[in-house]
Amino acid sequence: MIDGQGIFLSTELASRRNIRFALGAIFVSIVVFLAVVPFVTRPLAHVPAFIPAYESALLICDLITAVLLFGQFNILRSRALFVLGCGYLYTAVFAFAHALTFPDVFSPTGWLGAGPQTTVWLYMFWHGGFPLFVILYAHFKSKERIAADAGDAVHPSSRGSGVVMAAGVVAVLAIVGGCVLFATLGRDMLPVLIVDNRFSPSLSVLLGCIWLLSLLALVFLWSRRSHTVLDIWLIVVMFAWLADIALSAVLNAGRFDLGWYVGRAYGLVAASFLLIVMLIESGTHYARLAQLSAELKAANASLEQLSLHDALTGLANRRFFDAYLAAQIAIARRHKRMLALIICDIDAFKAFNDHYGHQAGDECIKQVAAALRSCCRRPADMAARYGGEEFAIVLPDTELAGAVQIAETVRQAVARLKIPHAHSSAAPEISISGGVAVLLRTIDFTPAQLIAAADRTLYEAKDRGRNQMVAVQPEAANQPA
Ligand code: GH3
Ligand code: MG
Ligand code: MG
Repeated sequence: MIDGQGIFLSTELASRRNIRFALGAIFVSIVVFLAVVPFVTRPLAHVPAFIPAYESALLICDLITAVLLFGQFNILRSRALFVLGCGYLYTAVFAFAHALTFPDVFSPTGWLGAGPQTTVWLYMFWHGGFPLFVILYAHFKSKERIAADAGDAVHPSSRGSGVVMAAGVVAVLAIVGGCVLFATLGRDMLPVLIVDNRFSPSLSVLLGCIWLLSLLALVFLWSRRSHTVLDIWLIVVMFAWLADIALSAVLNAGRFDLGWYVGRAYGLVAASFLLIVMLIESGTHYARLAQLSAELKAANASLEQLSLHDALTGLANRRFFDAYLAAQIAIARRHKRMLALIICDIDAFKAFNDHYGHQAGDECIKQVAAALRSCCRRPADMAARYGGEEFAIVLPDTELAGAVQIAETVRQAVARLKIPHAHSSAAPEISISGGVAVLLRTIDFTPAQLIAAADRTLYEAKDRGRNQMVAVQPEAANQPA
């Protein structure tokens, strides 16, 4: 099972803020409930169109919530989410069937062969069934938490989630279909619960049981440890669900009184609440996605910087140098242009390290690197740290004479640093030696051959006493090693 901690409502633990909001919502719903209770039996206008309008809203809200829950199940493979998704699908289909069979809506007795008791029995199956899904949700959620604490993965099925969801949809449709058949074809077997829009005593008993079942679902949810954000809002939904049943079926006197209408309003709150919270969640996800994408871009840029640059000096590293030289040689060949390469090396650097210490050596390398960088004037010129105390400068579109001049500028820039080096045979201060090689228009040099040519002249500079730049003669350079 994917962890998803902190990403999904169903896995993110509820914060104090979430809990405060939920308690606020519960408080408001209790206050409204108590304010309405004294007037629940007051009769209001008989509006048959209210039912299809109200139940269409329920159907849409419940269906979208089911789709969102199945979507999260598809990612997290959590049985709890699957069961809750089925629960929302269950109420969606029941809302549809209830509206079709309601008397005086689509026909005087209701569609689907409904009788006077059909809708009220459908209401019982509907409102008695949903709390069972919530109890199952809470049960699986507890098991999944225990498994997650133990580090075990929980999978609802070894089969694909598509098959599981399809099976869930078929099962829900079959259960609701069975209930509809029972309440229509088998309606004569069922006790009479409603007469002339007035509720009978046996209906009150049945509703009391359903209300207690809903209360049990609420207690079950509440008593679980470590609530997720989804659990918290589901608790609020169950409060609204209890208020719905209490007002529209238990405390009121019959259809179309104040309790019946306000109870329906609670029903709509119960249906839309989770949907609204999940839609807010998806908006938050978009914001987070935009932020993560910006962070990822910045991280990629800094990783690229790290992978292509030397940490000590900030110059291009060997990997970047190799790629750049190869690319520039290819461009020079294609456009029949010159290209120069300078390789230089700090003189007697081992002695410098030995006498001044490695930290002073590092500092010296940094300063020499900065001096080299300052000599790269054109945008395409590139200085790189070639090895320990060896550097390379690629000079595209540069003739030998120009490259020699730049090499000499570099040597002087390093001399101007005036870093004392009492143990160098070359000079009293840090100095460099260098070799310059050029790519001729007529010769097909590979990068390795150009480097080898520059390297040979570097050693010649060392042989001649260091602290100097030597250019390879074009004729000599044309003899690849
Ligand atoms: P030459 O004039 O012939 O170049 O003599 P050299 O002593 O400079 O040459 P050698 O290649 O023998 O020594 C290079 C030294 O550079 C040895 C190594 O410890 C030192 N070195 C290489 N990389 C670093 C570094 O990053 N920091 C420091 N402090 N020293 C380094
Ligand atoms: Mg050296
Ligand atoms: Mg060296």
